Amino acid sequence: MLSEKNFWNSTVEPASRPDAAVPSRVDVAIVGGGYAGLSAARVLARSGARVAVLEQETVGWGASSRNAGMVLTGMKLGPEALVKKYGEARARRMFAFSLSAIDTVERIVNEEQIACGFARSGHLEAAWKPAHFAGYAAAAEFMEKTFGHRVQVIPKADLHAEIGSDLYHGGMVDEVSASVNPEQFVLGLADAARRAGALIHEQTRVRSVGRAAGRFTVATDRGTIDAERVFVGTGGYTGPATPALRRRVIPIGSYIIASAPLSDALARQVIPRRRMVFDSKHFLYYFRLTPDNRMLFGGRAAFRPETPMSTRRSAEILRQGMVQVFPQLSATPVEFVWGGRVDFTYDVMPHAGVLDDLYYAIGFGGHGVAIATSLGESVARQMLGQAADHPLVGLPFPAVPLYNGNPLVHLPAAWMYYKVLDWVS
Ligand SMILES: Cc1cc2nc3c(=O)[nH]c(=O)nc-3n(C[C@H](O)[C@H](O)[C@H](O)COP(=O)(O)OP(=O)(O)OC[C@H]3O[C@@H](n4cnc5c(N)ncnc54)[C@H](O)[C@@H]3O)c2cc1C
Repeated sequence: MLSEKNFWNSTVEPASRPDAAVPSRVDVAIVGGGYAGLSAARVLARSGARVAVLEQETVGWGASSRNAGMVLTGMKLGPEALVKKYGEARARRMFAFSLSAIDTVERIVNEEQIACGFARSGHLEAAWKPAHFAGYAAAAEFMEKTFGHRVQVIPKADLHAEIGSDLYHGGMVDEVSASVNPEQFVLGLADAARRAGALIHEQTRVRSVGRAAGRFTVATDRGTIDAERVFVGTGGYTGPATPALRRRVIPIGSYIIASAPLSDALARQVIPRRRMVFDSKHFLYYFRLTPDNRMLFGGRAAFRPETPMSTRRSAEILRQGMVQVFPQLSATPVEFVWGGRVDFTYDVMPHAGVLDDLYYAIGFGGHGVAIATSLGESVARQMLGQAADHPLVGLPFPAVPLYNGNPLVHLPAAWMYYKVLDWVS
């Protein structure tokens, strides 16, 4: 029986939390209760600041509970593109930052004792076309030479040790990547921020943020807050309350299905080493096993932010994708389907810093479990007066040309662009 719900929701106990009145005055108001906002809240509250996290739905309701839980090395832009665009020295710092961001997740999980199944499971990139595999040896060499980071190239003949599929033309394994239950992680982060003293207000939408006499007036559905500083971590759900950020972030739909649990033998056959897997096409498939052996299979089955109709349609499109990769799952029922918004920026890079006097971390493009968590911490330290310590400092953050914040106008062209890239690359 197919349920149009996020599988990860079924892995946590529903919580009923007291609904306290929003405070009238705080040091820092945080808009958005995902990884970015909550990891910033934890650091700020630990330093003694009075912090209120304002979340329009419930903690983790956005991408932070909906994602595939792949904690991946690297940035969304590949190594060679990073070097080409930013030069070797800065690209090296960016890549190193992506590794330290995974360490940050691991450190928080250990320090705060968050039971979220964090494991260094490694990832597999699977080559969709022979031409993609042909580039892997050079890519691995480039990565080792430039970043000192080793990945293993797997020829097609050996690929069954990594994946029980004949569809791919070889692969590349990175042992440093990790996996996590994303919802357990975000709820654990929220508990940690609360223990540090942060107030977390759910069902509290920020309607506008005004500035007068050096302070901010944050108008919410549940009252107005006077704040010395504001941090925005609204990801793909960024709305009219922060118009400058809204013009810089395009939300793109990504969808996931979860099958019924597979037998141990079948699970061992489809992804023997329980890696996080994604393939090399632009409209990529990404997939993994859940702890209870479900095949969790995601992709951009529709480009637009999710609606009940696009989610329902995605279930069948993704099931066909799953069976194309794993014909042995053709009789396995799909039990869950859900969608979420991935926040893309014009330069496909994450951004963090200050815009219009607001602190922010945003634009993770489907690569945000570790980087959103880590940039949340970094920006919080910056708010506490420390020097910004991440390699994205000073990166220009362009608005998307001709974009007014309405994704329905822009997405068809972007969709065609990526489809064409898949045909020709
Ligand atoms: C389907 C899917 C799969 C993904 N898979 C992966 C993966 O495997 N690995 C990976 O690294 N990344 C993945 N990502 C990306 C990753 O989930 C995100 O980058 C990350 O969760 C972003 O965290 P965030 O805190 O910036 O935003 P979010 O978690 O989206 O949180 C933003 C929050 O802000 C709230 N908000 C917005 N406006 C307001 C307002 N006005 N007032 C109050 N609250 C507001 C929203 O309700 C939301 O809860 C995936 C994303 C999706 C959608």
